[in-house]
Amino acid sequence: MGKARSKNQIILQSNALVTVLLLLLSFILGLNSPDGDTLPPRNGEYTTAPVGGDTGQLRRDPASLRGKIIVIDPGHGGINPGSRGVGPKPEKDNVLAVAWDLKGMLEYAGAKVIMTRDGDYSPGGPKADQLEARVDIANRSRGDIYVSIHNDWNKNSRITGTTTYFYSPDGYRLAAALQRGVTAELSSRNLGVRWASYYVIKNTVIPAALVELGFLSNKQEAILLSTRSYQTKAALGIYNGLVEYFSNR
Ligand SMILES: [Zn+2]
Repeated sequence: MGKARSKNQIILQSNALVTVLLLLLSFILGLNSPDGDTLPPRNGEYTTAPVGGDTGQLRRDPASLRGKIIVIDPGHGGINPGSRGVGPKPEKDNVLAVAWDLKGMLEYAGAKVIMTRDGDYSPGGPKADQLEARVDIANRSRGDIYVSIHNDWNKNSRITGTTTYFYSPDGYRLAAALQRGVTAELSSRNLGVRWASYYVIKNTVIPAALVELGFLSNKQEAILLSTRSYQTKAALGIYNGLVEYFSNR
């Protein structure tokens, strides 16, 4: 028992060290981030976000995360792999890895994290509606915000880039901050902040956004999305977005 515990403590400490180093790196590199432009809709599924535009200086204070309750929703899981694409791993694996990295960073900053799933299973169990289960967890959480993490797919394999979706007006500022954070960290093509009536962002009662990190239908991006370094960068991008969001409330 004693031995196992000290081993765990060493692992925890080295995880914390990695997180601190990453946060320092992001602080050095992430001071300037591109604005979340809004592109015309690609098809009839969604319309562009209202272009309000952020005015004034955006603040970034990691202390603003202290005590916040963040619901992280890694998409898919279990029998539902999400997009398979052309990369080595399905969407469900890629986004779970990002979620775990993000959880570590947020907890280190003093936030409380609730995951809709923390392994390869369907939230709510095999018989439940997994989308309903995710929304139930978010709505019972007394959380401050909800972030759903996904990988995208398109029949045009040349399309690459990051898109963040919102449904209600109170999700727009969250989505815009996440989009800025992720595209800055990944140096991915900025496909904009878009409105969509996806079930999980439509039915959550707290500010909600859904991040599509990149496309599994594009060879290069599919490979990147499955690598640990890119997954950690994606988590850092979401983290930076959350820092911005809570700093400017
Ligand atoms: Zn998905």
